[in-house]
Amino acid sequence: MPRTIKTKAIKNLLIRGARIIDPSQALDKHGDVVIENGIITRVGDNLAAPQHFEMVDARDLVVSPGWCDMHVHFREPGREDEETIETGCAAAVAGGFTAACPMPNTSPATDKREIVESIIKKSKETLVEVYPIAAATKGREGKELSEMAELVEAGAVAFSDDGCAIATAELTRRAMEYANMLGVPIIEHAEEATLDDGGAMNEGMFSTKLGLPGMPTVAEDIIVARDILLAEYTGAKVHLAHLSSARSVELIRWAKQRGIQVSCEVTPHHFTLTDEAVMVSNYDTNTKMNPPLRSPRDVDAMIAGLQDGTIDVIATDHAPHAIEEKDAEFAAAPFGIIGLETALGLIITRLVKPNMLSLADAIAKITAAPRRILNLPPVQIKEGQPANLVFFSPTKTWRVDKTKSYSKSRNTPFHGWDLTGRVFAVYNKQQWWVNPDF
Ligand SMILES: [Zn+2]
Repeated sequence: MPRTIKTKAIKNLLIRGARIIDPSQALDKHGDVVIENGIITRVGDNLAAPQHFEMVDARDLVVSPGWCDMHVHFREPGREDEETIETGCAAAVAGGFTAACPMPNTSPATDKREIVESIIKKSKETLVEVYPIAAATKGREGKELSEMAELVEAGAVAFSDDGCAIATAELTRRAMEYANMLGVPIIEHAEEATLDDGGAMNEGMFSTKLGLPGMPTVAEDIIVARDILLAEYTGAKVHLAHLSSARSVELIRWAKQRGIQVSCEVTPHHFTLTDEAVMVSNYDTNTKMNPPLRSPRDVDAMIAGLQDGTIDVIATDHAPHAIEEKDAEFAAAPFGIIGLETALGLIITRLVKPNMLSLADAIAKITAAPRRILNLPPVQIKEGQPANLVFFSPTKTWRVDKTKSYSKSRNTPFHGWDLTGRVFAVYNKQQWWVNPDF
């Protein structure tokens, strides 16, 4: 059984001496925060709280707005044995995320009003706000557009056929035109299907050595280029999901310079691991994901893209799979790893600690940026705003133990890794959760 999140109802809270980081206001300072009836009423120095307030000594902690993961898979409906909305939200909270956007490649696909509504409804009792991404085409089959207006009305915040790219340029164009009218972006899984057919890992030296069918970077680059040109042509907004190739970053940099409305994301595993991991791990299927782990040159490009702002967002692509399915021959195993609970540790260990990215810039990529791209209500540490906060230590080290995961699945390549940066607590919807493993 997966672990559950045990919360405590707290209306009134005084946070003492925290480092407050809120990139949406360019705020990075030490101070106190007073919460009354779940609303932030004061932010300042040496604040006194009325009686009967709970107090948290946050002198060694950072407090930021609750994080938003704009790319997760919660597997409900269809594969509740791998994850449910409830367990996915538990893993999100444990990782510091109070907002999550599940992709539509459920079964059936999230292409109907009832499914969008049911996903939102099932998240209501959790600390997480869930914003579903609906399928761009019916059944994600790439034949006919979904009922997009109806889906937005039901609460969908974007459209994607994630798991694969929208099949044809013509459909992508029309999906962009409709999405643009509805004021939401298209999120593209950039992969040209015929080039990647049967592929299991990055095409390169290691796929040759290991005798595994390759997935060339150009399969990603072609769809990134297609969608950039279509976004320019239609004036629509496109967000490129989980970038992995150096050339894609270059193309997006070019597009942004031209003023095309394009944004993009990278996952922690794509800025941490290379395709050498498949060999070093001796074909561990937890190194199999789509897009695949790439070369050191590609990983360097991800980091450069994060640094110069070409890459707007860090998203996990949390993709739970049952143990028996991952426990297969490499070529036959499904793609994907879980990622919500290791995101902060990888961001700090890989980017912040080695001074590749400031902590505030890293936080911006999991708070303000995804919310801006998806037009979600902003979350700010500001008087009058609902308190939606995550507390974490940027210096605490810990060892990843997959058996302690809140997800229903266990497919992570980071088991046993020592990471720096750990979530201490989350406050949202007047509920307080403290990490028992902190
Ligand atoms: Zn994808």
